Amino acid sequence: MDLAFSPEERAFRDEVREFIATHLPPDVRRRVQAGDPLGKDDYACWHRILHERGWVAPGWPVALGGTDWGPVEKHIFQEEISYGWAPRLLPFGLQMVAPVIIEFGNDEQRARYLPKIHSGEEFWCQGYSEPGAGSDLASLQSSAVHDPSTSSGQAETYVINGTKTWITAAQWADWIFVLARTERSAKKQDGISFILVDMKTPGVTVRPIETIDGGREINEVHLENVRVPVANRVGGEGEGWNIAKFLLEHERTGTAGIAGCRQQLESLHELLAHEKIDDRRLQERVAQVEIELEALAFTELRTLAAESAGKRPGPESSILKIKGTEIQQAISELALDALGPYAEAHVAPKYFNYRKTSIYAGSNEIQKNIIAKRILKLP
Ligand SMILES: Cc1cc2nc3c(=O)[nH]c(=O)nc-3n(C[C@H](O)[C@H](O)[C@H](O)COP(=O)(O)OP(=O)(O)OC[C@H]3O[C@@H](n4cnc5c(N)ncnc54)[C@H](O)[C@@H]3O)c2cc1C
Repeated sequence: MDLAFSPEERAFRDEVREFIATHLPPDVRRRVQAGDPLGKDDYACWHRILHERGWVAPGWPVALGGTDWGPVEKHIFQEEISYGWAPRLLPFGLQMVAPVIIEFGNDEQRARYLPKIHSGEEFWCQGYSEPGAGSDLASLQSSAVHDPSTSSGQAETYVINGTKTWITAAQWADWIFVLARTERSAKKQDGISFILVDMKTPGVTVRPIETIDGGREINEVHLENVRVPVANRVGGEGEGWNIAKFLLEHERTGTAGIAGCRQQLESLHELLAHEKIDDRRLQERVAQVEIELEALAFTELRTLAAESAGKRPGPESSILKIKGTEIQQAISELALDALGPYAEAHVAPKYFNYRKTSIYAGSNEIQKNIIAKRILKLP
């Protein structure tokens, strides 16, 4: 992909590469490279290092601690994070709630929340999904009701009740942003509000969900009579659906994970060489995946070029999401097939863990619906 970059962009890439090589703690790099689960401390440590360098929030406005990078520099930075085996910082604070607070919050909210997200002092999680509301998110049932017992002079509060599920990193989070119904109106997209909840508030309970690979990355979050100041609502009451959609656009960009796929392929080649696996059929399948990955990389560069020319990422990000996650899953499947019955200790956990990629950030079937409606204009 080198030829695609200008000399300045290549110089920038070398600077980032050098920084990661010299600043990423070796034990963290080892864990990322081995595919071992990372702890909160690993993320916090890398967050601090990027924060000190001024590179922790490339997507934020410069005045609030962002960088002046264009889309290509941001892309190069993300690629180098993968190539250097550095952790990808959790997106819930920096890339999800922060853009929402910047766009829809008031000055007090910006002053209260953004500096601690930027410094990594406060961890966040995303409370959207519910047991009966995933793809059909607007069916959510959690409620936030004005507390009638609030006496005059006291800050007005909501009382929140409901269950959020599949919540990544809730076990580490200091704050959760939730979508809750503040009004039961005719249209299900109406009457939803976007509310920030301190995880230490009485009535918030986190229950771990064990994933198919034995991991502990997702949770149920129960909210039982949780009293939250009305001032914690971002945007107007009942305007949460618009905010939710704004946030999902941010969530879907960058899910192709091209650099991550390249690293996975490199590990696969090492595995095949180490295990002396010389299977022609398997090699053909590896080559096929490599071809598809290169095609996807060029598709991603085309969307970057459009972004550089001032276009917003549109429904095309659905194509990147589908194809990128299919390739990630295909590589983990190749590793599993290569080792056969010996895969259990080596690659099986990763294979199982990667099933999630076609479900989260809007399932791939939902992305296909978006492509059908918004790109192909099908009825
Ligand atoms: C590892 C992981 C982490 C997650 N982290 C978070 C998190 O931090 N915060 C959060 O809020 N949520 C999180 N989620 C939840 C995720 O957003 C939902 O799982 C996802 O939106 C799918 O919803 P669902 O599980 O209810 O499945 P359903 O919506 O019930 O879908 C079931 C199946 O039906 C298909 N389907 C549904 N509707 C349609 C349709 N209209 N057309 C075609 N096919 C359809 C789906 O594609 C899927 O295959 C996470 C999920 C996973 C797996």
